[in-house]
Amino acid sequence: MTAPSSKQSTSSQPSPATEMVAADLTTVFNTLITGLHILHYNGVLDAYGHISVRNPNDGSNFFMSRNLAPALVANSSDLVEYRVEDAAPIDPNAPGGFLERYIHSELYKRFPSINSVVHSHSPQVVPYTFSGVPLRSCIHMAGFLGDEVPNFDITAHYEPGDNQDILIRSQRLGAALAAEFSSDRSLPNATQTEADHAVVLMQNHGFTTVASSIKLAVMQAVYTQVNAGIQTTALTIQNSNPNRNQQDLSFLSSQQAVKTWTTMSGTSDRPWGLWSHEVRSSNLYQNLLDPDQTQPAAPLL
Ligand SMILES: [Zn+2]
Repeated sequence: MTAPSSKQSTSSQPSPATEMVAADLTTVFNTLITGLHILHYNGVLDAYGHISVRNPNDGSNFFMSRNLAPALVANSSDLVEYRVEDAAPIDPNAPGGFLERYIHSELYKRFPSINSVVHSHSPQVVPYTFSGVPLRSCIHMAGFLGDEVPNFDITAHYEPGDNQDILIRSQRLGAALAAEFSSDRSLPNATQTEADHAVVLMQNHGFTTVASSIKLAVMQAVYTQVNAGIQTTALTIQNSNPNRNQQDLSFLSSQQAVKTWTTMSGTSDRPWGLWSHEVRSSNLYQNLLDPDQTQPAAPLL
């Protein structure tokens, strides 16, 4: 996910464990901020939605931005470190965060292999959360969607007294969403390393995707939206054809879904290179941690 720094452990008698090179958090934060800007540039996030990353030096914590529109996150001071255990900030004086950070904390708690989470309200994807039409893998760039994309209905998890504003505003609701990423939802936390599903829809709300790195999480979020747009176009064409037969659309087979994503996930540096160049070239975005950002700082809009 990130390039290791040359910083070594400060232990005077290094053990094999302490000889491990600590990840450079500035590099991690640079990638996280670029990811936020890419997701905004592609319309996956607007003023809402978020991406997080597990702390590579302490897996019991994670980072995400303070309560700020994704396009306006610019520096490490805009980021807050939270505990996986309860989504509480490490620094009690940290700036205010997102109500829905329990999405992230409970996913990191349930799946130790997950290192990045994106939550989006993509308008192309949301119709598949309440129309009864399942979102399927239509293209080779979205094989990670698999055979089916679960649709999480928060209504089934409400208890008396809950604020029914659809938001994932508690550990209990976050854990219920995280369980949807398992084929067997009855499994307790952290008994599976890997999630069975890369994407879960959220009824009348959006979707969440999980990955082992920021770059893959961003790629999955972008292509979940692209796949939804293509499927909608195909359904529109099919339904507008007076001579259509009643055959369903053709989707990727199970094997095609697995094999295409095995291939395409290994190419994430290509879209990342393009997307990071696009946001670097736009005056809207500032990433003060990006060593390649050569433009003078533009005023925040
Ligand atoms: Zn949301």
